[in-house]
Order: sequence, then C-alpha cells, then structure tokens
Amino acid sequence: MIVDVSEIFYSIQGEGSKIGYKAIFIRLCGCNLKCPFCDTKYALSCKNPMNAHEIYEKISRFPAKNIIFTGGEPTLKDNFMAYFMKKYNNYSYFLETNGTLFPKKSINLFSHIVVSPKMFAINLDVLKSLIKYSISIEFKFVVDENFTKELELMEELGLKEATFQPVWLNDSMESYIKKTVRIIEKLKDIPYNIRIIPQIHKILYGQKKGV
Ligand code: SF4
Repeated sequence: MIVDVSEIFYSIQGEGSKIGYKAIFIRLCGCNLKCPFCDTKYALSCKNPMNAHEIYEKISRFPAKNIIFTGGEPTLKDNFMAYFMKKYNNYSYFLETNGTLFPKKSINLFSHIVVSPKMFAINLDVLKSLIKYSISIEFKFVVDENFTKELELMEELGLKEATFQPVWLNDSMESYIKKTVRIIEKLKDIPYNIRIIPQIHKILYGQKKGV
C-alpha cells in the first residue's frame, strides 16, 4: 500500500499532554483544510510516494517506540494507517488530527489521539464520535487572546479539560512570552481545567523542518 509522505523524523512531542516524550513522526501529505496560520504548508499537497515497508525501514532506525501520525490531515489516509498499524504492531501509535474526519478503520488502533479543532471548520458529529470511540483522547486548542469560541465548543462537547497553546505567528520571543502571560491571566478566571503550554517546538526550533 502506497502513501505520500512529507517527512519522517525523530524528535520530542511538542504539543498536548504527552509533551516532551521522544517520538517518531510520520507526516503524511494532504489536508482537507487551508488554515491561514498553518505552519506545515509544505505538507498540504506534497507528492512523495512510499510503501509501508519503506516507511517501516526508516522508522525502525530510530530508538523509540512511539509513532505519531500527523500531517497535513492524516485521517485522509485512514485505510493506510489501519493497514500499517496492524502490520507493524510493535509500536504505540498516536494521532494528531483537526477533528473534521472520522477515521473509522484506524481509530481503535491509536493509544492516544490529540484533536486540534479549527474554529472555522467544526464538525460536531465527528468530534462527538472521536470522543465516543477513541481509547484515549485530548483536545488541544491553538489560541489567541480571544478564546470565547473555544470555550463554547468545550461547553458544547462537555469537555472539562483541554490544552491551550498560545499561537506563535510572527511574534518575537519577547512578544510571544508577553502574549502567553496575558492568556494565562485571562484563563485564571475560567472554571475549566485548562493546561497552558507554549508552542515549545517553535521556541526550540523556529520554523525548521524535520526536528
Ligand atoms: S488543519 Fe492543520 S495541517 Fe491542515 S491546513 Fe490547518 S493547520 Fe495546516
């Protein structure tokens, strides 16, 4: 089975509750959205066909057992992910998704799913199904200083907790830290269990690929 792969790399998880753990990333090509703030635009329409064995050969060189399927939007390749995870079942698999498509073939093969909904493209039915059928799930929102919509969505989905990551656009480090502190101060008044994590990858690596 063939799939287009933007990049495969070994790094640490920079987002969500698994932050800091070593992981191998398989970034699949293609996305069903076009977010203006996307920081992986190079993965939205790339072509780099690889078969499952080639991908396995590459990941098996790394001394880690956690694999993260990311994108783009990896759920576009639901069949491939299900095939790969069943064939190479000596790894723990994680998914990063925008939550607009339901991966019905692969959902029960992921140890953990991070959903990062985009406020302009919410599919409530899919989000509710992801919550219902995943083994373990968390919601992560990349937020600016106005996060009313994110809180409304949490209310609608009955979420009691989530991770908020202040968005890093073209900020200097100093302005990013100041923005993050303002968001922290606003969130102190919110009655949800919200974890605030800066965009660690961007602090450490900027826009560099494959790290
Ligand atoms: S959903 Fe993610 S990968 Fe797709 S365009 Fe938006 S930010 Fe980029």
